[in-house]
Parts: sequence; C-alpha cells; structure tokens
Amino acid sequence: MSIVKYADVILPIPLRSVFTYEVPNSLDSLTCGMRVIVPFGSKKIYTGIVYCIHDTEPQTYRAKPIFEVLDLEAIISPKQFDLWSWIADYYCASLGDVMNAALPSALKLSSQTKIHKIRSHEELPQLKEKEKLVLKALEQHSELSFDEVSKLLGQKSIFPVINTLIAYKLIGSYEQVSEKYKPKRERFVTIVQASQDFQKMLSKAPKQWALVQYFIQQSKESNNQMIGVQQLIKGAYSSYNCLNRLVKKGVFELHEMAVSRLSDFDLKEQTTFELSDKQKTALSQIKTALKKQSVALFHGVTSSGKTEVLVELIKEVINEGRQVLYLVPEIALTTQLIRRLSQYFGDKITVYHSRFSVNERVEIWNEVKNTNRFSLILGTRSSLFLPFNELGLIIVDEEHEITFKQQYSSPKYNARDTAIKYAQIHNAKVVLASATPSIESYYNAQTEKYALVELTERYGGLKLPEIEVVDIKYLAHRKLMKGAFSPNLLSEISLALEKQKQVILFQNRRGFAPQSTCKTCSWTASCKSCDVSLTFHKSQNVLKCHYCGYTESIVKKCKSCGSFELEIKGYGTEKLEEELQPFFPNSCISRLDLDSTRRKNAYGKIITDFENGQIDILVGTQMITKGLDFKNVSLVGIMNADGLLNFPDFRSFERSFQLMTQVAGRAGRKDKQGKVLIQTYSPDHDIIHSVQSNDYLCMYDAQMVERKHFTYPPFCKLISISVKHRDMDTVSQAARVLALHLRSTFLNQVLGPEYPPVARIKNRYIKNILVKIVPGISLSKSKHLLMKLIERVKQTKPFSGVRFDIDVDPL
Ligand code: ADP
Ligand code: ZN
Ligand code: ZN
Repeated sequence: MSIVKYADVILPIPLRSVFTYEVPNSLDSLTCGMRVIVPFGSKKIYTGIVYCIHDTEPQTYRAKPIFEVLDLEAIISPKQFDLWSWIADYYCASLGDVMNAALPSALKLSSQTKIHKIRSHEELPQLKEKEKLVLKALEQHSELSFDEVSKLLGQKSIFPVINTLIAYKLIGSYEQVSEKYKPKRERFVTIVQASQDFQKMLSKAPKQWALVQYFIQQSKESNNQMIGVQQLIKGAYSSYNCLNRLVKKGVFELHEMAVSRLSDFDLKEQTTFELSDKQKTALSQIKTALKKQSVALFHGVTSSGKTEVLVELIKEVINEGRQVLYLVPEIALTTQLIRRLSQYFGDKITVYHSRFSVNERVEIWNEVKNTNRFSLILGTRSSLFLPFNELGLIIVDEEHEITFKQQYSSPKYNARDTAIKYAQIHNAKVVLASATPSIESYYNAQTEKYALVELTERYGGLKLPEIEVVDIKYLAHRKLMKGAFSPNLLSEISLALEKQKQVILFQNRRGFAPQSTCKTCSWTASCKSCDVSLTFHKSQNVLKCHYCGYTESIVKKCKSCGSFELEIKGYGTEKLEEELQPFFPNSCISRLDLDSTRRKNAYGKIITDFENGQIDILVGTQMITKGLDFKNVSLVGIMNADGLLNFPDFRSFERSFQLMTQVAGRAGRKDKQGKVLIQTYSPDHDIIHSVQSNDYLCMYDAQMVERKHFTYPPFCKLISISVKHRDMDTVSQAARVLALHLRSTFLNQVLGPEYPPVARIKNRYIKNILVKIVPGISLSKSKHLLMKLIERVKQTKPFSGVRFDIDVDPL
C-alpha cells in the first residue's frame, strides 16, 4: 500500500494559511513550486502554487484531490519561497497576497478557467449522458467556462464530469492560461546556397538583383545567414513584392521564429571614466565594509557621483558571475539610469517595472530564471520578486524614499527592508544609497548595524547650490506677490533663461487647484465618497478626488447657498504652469506629475525633452525630486515649503528636509554652482535652516531627540491598524473594543483610535490605532497576539463585516 501524499497549496485569496490537497497517484512528478489547479469550496476553481509536499492528512477537513498540474518544473525556487514566507510573516499578510504581488500576471491564472476540446472522438469510451452533453456543447463553442458548464448541466457539482473527460484526454482545461503568454514571432530571410548564377538569372530584374546583392553584403558584414524581413526591405529600400518574387524563384527562403521582445539597449560608444580620489576611497571603503558586514549605507551629497562608484562595484560583482539588482523608487528614474548604465553594461542590463506589458514581463522573468543573459536588473520594488539564482548585490538607490513601501494593498512591504532580507537569503550584499538617508537607516549605521560610507563633496569639486529663503508672508503682506510667484523667483528665472539655463519648479500638489470654495458661505466642493475636497483639473475641466478617482464636472453654483461666486483656491502644478506662461511667453514650460505621465512612454519623453533643452522650465511634483541628473539646470524653485512642514505626521520634518534637499540637488550639477529659492511663510524654521546649510546631521540629531522623547522609530517599532466599515458607529465601536483589548496587553503603548486626516475613503469610515513595540518586547509575538485580538473582535456579532488592515512599519 502506498502512502497518500498531500500538498499544501498557496491560493490567491487573502486567507492566512495554505490549503492541503491530496496528490493523486497520476501526479507523482509533482514538486514544490509548480502551479496546480484545485477545487475550492463547492464551486470555485483556483490556480495555486504547491508550497510543500508531505504525508500528513489535514485534521479538520477532507483533502480534495488536485485536478491538474500546469508546469513541468518548479516556477518558484526555494529561495523565492523563503522570501515569500518572510514577507507574509513579517508584514502580517497571507501567502496568497504575496503570491499575487510576486507573480507577473501572465503566470497567474484566473478562476475563470475554461475548458476546450482536445481531440475528435470517433471511438468514444463509455460516457455518461452529462459527459456527452459537455462534449457536444464544445463542438459549438470553442471553449466553455466552468460557470457555463454548470448552467449547461443544471447543477453545481461539475467536477466529476469534467474530471472524467480530462482523464480520457477528451478535453483540456485552462487553455486561456497557457495562451496568456504569446511568444512574438518574426519572419527571416535566408538565401539558397545553390551555386546558380543569380546575376544572370536576374538580369532582367534589376530591383531583385539589388536586393540579393544587399542581402549578400549585409549577411557578410553581420556574419549572419539570416536577416529579418523588415530589416532587409527597409535597409535595401525594397518592397515585399520584390522579396516575394525572389522567394518564388527559389532564391530566398522565408522562416518564422520566436524572437525576444526585449530590445537590447544599444551599446553606444562605451564610455569610460575614472573615479576621483574621493570616489576611489569611497569605493574601497564600501568593499572593505562589505567583507565584514552585509549592509552598507552610502551617504553622499547630491551629485557626488554615487552612481559612478556603484558602477565600479557592480562591475566587480558581475565579473564574479553573479547577478545585481538595482532598485529605484520610481519608474521615472529608470528612464535616465538605463541610459547611463547601458553605457557600461550594454546588453547585460534590463529594466523591469509595472508599465511593461504582460508578455514582456514574462520574458524577463524567464531570462532571469533560465539564462545568464542579464546580469544587471534595474527596476522598481516588484523586481525583488524575479527568480534570481545567483544574486550577489542589491543596490537600493534613494533608500529614504517612501515609494519603496507598498502602501495601499497587502502585503504592505518595504522593498528596502525586504531587499536586505532577500540578500541574506542569497548570501548577497546590500548598498543603501542616498544623499538624505532615512533616520532609521542612519541610526542603523550609527549603531554599527550597517557600515557607513560618506562622500561629502560634489564631483569635480563643485559647490552645492546656494540656497535663498524667500519670506512670502512678508511679501504677501506688502502685496508684492504675483500669484504664487515672488518677485525674487521671477527675476531669478529670467536670469537663468537669459543665460540659456533651465529651471525646475517644485510644487507638491498636482492638478490645477486643490479647492473650489464659495465666497459667500465657504462651502467647498468635496467628494461624495471621501471626506476630502475635490481638486480642480483645468485641462480636463473636472473636479477630481485624489483618493478614489471620483470625477464630476465643474460646478458653477454653490451647492449650499446658490451663490455663483466660487473661488478657486490654492495651487497645483497645472495652475502654476498656466500662470507662469504669461511671464515668460517665449519659453517652453512643461509639467512632470502623475497626470502628465499616465501613458507608457510619457515619462521618458518629458525627461528626454528636458535633457535635450526642448523644455526651458519644468514644473513638477515630488516626481522631479528624485535622483535625476540634468546638466543644464541652474535654478530650482520650491514654491511652498509650508505645505510639507505642516503635514501632521511625526516624520514630516524629516520628509521636508529630504524633499527640499533632493530637489535643491538638481541645480548646478555641471560646471557651475546652482541656485535654489525656497518660498515659505516660516523662514526661521529649523528645518529650513538645516536645508540651507545642507546639515543632515543637525536635522538628524534634532529629530532623534524628539523621537526618543516621544518614543517613535528608531526607538520603537510601529504597527498601525486601520479599522474600516461603511457605518460610522460600527467603526468607532469596533476600534474602541480593539483598543481596549490592546491596552490590556500593550498598556500605554497604544495610541488612538483616531480619525486619520481623511476619515472616509470610498464610503468607508476609517479609524486608526497605533501600537508601539518598544525594545525588549518581541515583535513577532506581539504580531501574533495582535492578530488573535483582531480575530476575537471580528467574531463578536456586530463586527463581522469590519475590516482590520495591519501595517507593520507604516510610513
Ligand atoms: P549622485 O547620484 O551622487 O547624485 P551622479 O552619480 O548622478 O551623482 O553624478 C553627478 C554627475 O557627475 C553626473 O553627471 C556624472 O556623470 C558626473 N560624474 C560623477 N563622477 C564622475 C567621474 N568619476 N567621472 C566623470 N563624471 C562623473
Ligand atoms: Zn473620493
Ligand atoms: Zn455658498
């Protein structure tokens, strides 16, 4: 008697555990990491991934058999599984959620699985009526979904029928799945090598002869027997007609082959550079440090040439035959970096992020898994999930950026911290790079958990930009402001433009204006489903909610008192762009924000146009503050520092410092010191002073005093719990009950419940509770306890529909 085997399968549902299934004898080649199709509940079908195989029968339910295996070999490696379970565990997420985040969608299967006919069936085995019915239906329809089969049979339980048909190999399922990824095919031309005299044969067809000659010459030059059809016709200025005739005459042959969608980044002239002495020192410090420690924090002022130092480091890792992952916080950054990096790494590098097509992502996935084609992957946080096999180094560039954290859906992981874990799994090293490190990372460096390497000078000995603070409260009082622009800023812009230099203006709000308010009764247009005012977007002439995307046409009349005197208040990037134009009618002004970059290549275009000098002034949100390197920008204007400083969060000073220092760092990166203007109502603010004197340590020390005094990270760990429900009272009660439970364990380390600044989003009311885990208390035990308490509240009657979202290390 053989023992029954069981498989624990991860399913794409937000439940906290894996599900155990029986492995039928016919599937004895099943291994961990393969995708399988399994029944779930009475009717559902899911595709999941086998997490482990064992022989323990589940205690509380009867294990159903696995229907089908989709892979011949594991698509997820043990190292990836280690990462997945760490994320699930650390961030209190389900493995299903992690799987959803990790797999490119083309490898994911939907529960909308379909069946189709495989072969015609002259000699049918003994089939039951219902089985015949399904086969018959498949003669009329090329495929059927399970729902359709269920309707056809008039019953819920369809698996016995489908299983029999699959067992007889009469139908296949999940066609939709395997077809989701389509290789790209291209046609190629070869020449028939018979020693005919082509010239003679084609003497009356000069165009065809020209094409043949071109082929021979190209084939020789590229040392390639095959030339792509399009490439050939274009290159020879010929036509399909001409090519077809040559095929008919037996001179050429056509072939079709699957080709890669991944274009190589063209290896232009290989550029070389030599590191400055300071950079050399930094490089050797990093190398020495990484021999002993696994993480180094590379703190270098803006434009100190961190990238160049990292390039040298990457080269060495690649030469050892290992892979490098270069993480950046935003897609916008890949555009410029890929151009810089491909000068050194040519076709060994590729980019990976969510704007790629489904098919492109699978191709990169497969290349990383199966070949050594790419040794350097540049990507955003999701590239952590690629199936690396020889990872040697992860670089987290701009490590302080909050976009490394997945904020809105589970798993709410921070890619920086996850990278450190993943590197550990691979026995690889990590470099965190930033001109403005996060306080947590700097603290880790100070306490020698990480090595610290600093570059305090700009490359080429350039001075950091001169920073002028403009008191707009004073100017507004004297009625000297021109809209959002101080006279100082306007005259600096003119000066820069006169010198053929470029300007960046930073405004931390997109859209036209944040508010449309009644002058008579102060009514403000606000979202129906969220407690937030609507932002006016002039180019589309709509009011938009930035939380749920709700849009309505612009209101002309106050909905409260009926007055027609509505006032557009505040400034967004769109309004700035518009108001700036009349001051500089001959200049080209453009905008870089979420709205102007929705299309796939929009980022790239704006950035390239700015690099090439086609844009004189670029207005943008935080998107322009990150790591971009423009040679010709001499002036940066920060339109309003107060919006940043006044944000109600314990991190707002740290953030303001980072944002302002980073955007200031875009000025004067080549040959001349740049200038920065900060417009603010509070020119004497400590943070403004630290930015002005580029004093990171001053900011750090002051913040550390506060953090220690009020117990905030790095002096504790935070877990936030968002309680959400459509009914306001239910939320309040559920949150109160949970907080009560929490206080009995975590005592005075529980804050809230409190309404967040936006207390209703998409019609759900929200209350937040914050738990501080102080040193000496186990984080993992706390999390388990916390989840238990949440379960307990959920099981109380009125709270069963309440959502509790846990965020570990919230930002
Ligand atoms: P950071 O990332 O520290 O802000 P970058 O790496 O973008 O700085 O470097 C700033 C500028 O200086 C870039 O234009 C870069 O090409 C140039 N640069 C830095 N180091 C060197 C070097 N060793 N040789 C030539 N150019 C360099
Ligand atoms: Zn809304
Ligand atoms: Zn009104």
